[in-house]
Amino acid sequence: MRCVVKKFGGTSVGDIHRIREVAKKVAAARDQGEHIVVVVSAMAGETDRLVTLAHQLVESPNAREFDLLLSTGEMVSSALLALVLNDMGYAAESFVGRQVGILTDSIHTRARIRRIDGERILRALEQGRIAVVAGFQGIDEREDLTTLGRGGSDTTAVALAAALGAEMCEIYTDVDGVYTADPNLVPGARRLRKISYDEMLEMASLGAKVLQTRSVEVGKIYQVPVLVKSTFQEGEGTLVTEEDAELEKVVVSGVTLDKNQARITVAAVPDRPGVAAKILGQVSDAHIVVDMIVQNVGEQGLTDLSFTVARGDGQKAATLVQEVLPEIGAREVKLDATIAKVSIIGAGMRSHAGVAAGMFTALARENINIFMISTSEIKISCVIDEKYGELAVRALHEAFGLSQDRG
Ligand code: ADP
Ligand code: ASP
Ligand code: MG
Repeated sequence: MRCVVKKFGGTSVGDIHRIREVAKKVAAARDQGEHIVVVVSAMAGETDRLVTLAHQLVESPNAREFDLLLSTGEMVSSALLALVLNDMGYAAESFVGRQVGILTDSIHTRARIRRIDGERILRALEQGRIAVVAGFQGIDEREDLTTLGRGGSDTTAVALAAALGAEMCEIYTDVDGVYTADPNLVPGARRLRKISYDEMLEMASLGAKVLQTRSVEVGKIYQVPVLVKSTFQEGEGTLVTEEDAELEKVVVSGVTLDKNQARITVAAVPDRPGVAAKILGQVSDAHIVVDMIVQNVGEQGLTDLSFTVARGDGQKAATLVQEVLPEIGAREVKLDATIAKVSIIGAGMRSHAGVAAGMFTALARENINIFMISTSEIKISCVIDEKYGELAVRALHEAFGLSQDRG
């Protein structure tokens, strides 16, 4: 059955008035004859409120209970939206993750979807109903509730679109598309008409929270066209799709800033095989994702090893490394949570030399020191002092001519 998945984010369902507006939008699409699956986020600020509640009670909440708590935000908004749709005369049914068979692994608070049994949704659509699904959640093998990480409703939407063979996954949010940089940070940022899955993947994982990284991954694997649009105004939005000749021509498509970073430095590490494996193994066993890794050239048999993790994992990672210090014979572990990562992304980098030099020059012009560098085919990232983050993004946006109209 041909259907469309429409996802509405937290701001879009932020209060009763906005939920009613979303209902009108959904109803108008239904009037056009579309079969619609709606995915909703929790009302703006609700997930943060729940996180704070838990932390007021206990320092490190049990992950299983925490997930159950967090998932309630989306249940509320899905039920409210279905209520108002029904009241308007449109048959609608709300569902929580488990009712529509969203099965995940058991990594609480950052679970990954393994499988979706869309049977229940298809039945609702066949009966002419609008399915309203609570985003961000699923159940694991033990039938325990899991959540998909912050921003996870995007992934619910794209994964449902893939599972149902939907024509399109529309992501309605508070900006009218994907921009060359966060429009709330860079006033001159421009909306992109199209962006490739690979570029969007980099943008998302490097800090552009407009789409959750995993949602882009799923979109790419299952070839789901994803359209990012504004809930509040009409417009063509940004299409996330396969790369084509037009997209390849652009050297730099976007600039991102990620302040959610911490750096851990292990000082005076004996320079011998197996030490890095020991340190990083300890961290990855705790399911902490390590991003950049730098090992300095050793002197007198000793070296320094630095790596970055998400800021929320910084303390835990430092403690874990501290535990293996005696075993590896390193001197000390330092945690620095005042760093940020700025990145430039563009498919055209593959075939252009000198992009990195342009980035370093632009940062040097602003007197911004670079602590770490990492590159891939289509991106370059630099770790810098957090306090220069915004300045760096604006300088790079300017240096690569992103404010200029490309026609
Ligand atoms: P929602 O609640 O709808 O999921 P999010 O807050 O998760 O919305 O994502 C939208 C926000 O993403 C925007 O308000 C904007 O500040 C931010 N953002 C960051 N980088 C970009 C970018 N390159 N283009 C568009 N928005 C961006
Ligand atoms: N409500 C969750 C969050 O705030 C999931 C989402 O909005 O996508 O992260
Ligand atoms: Mg979001």
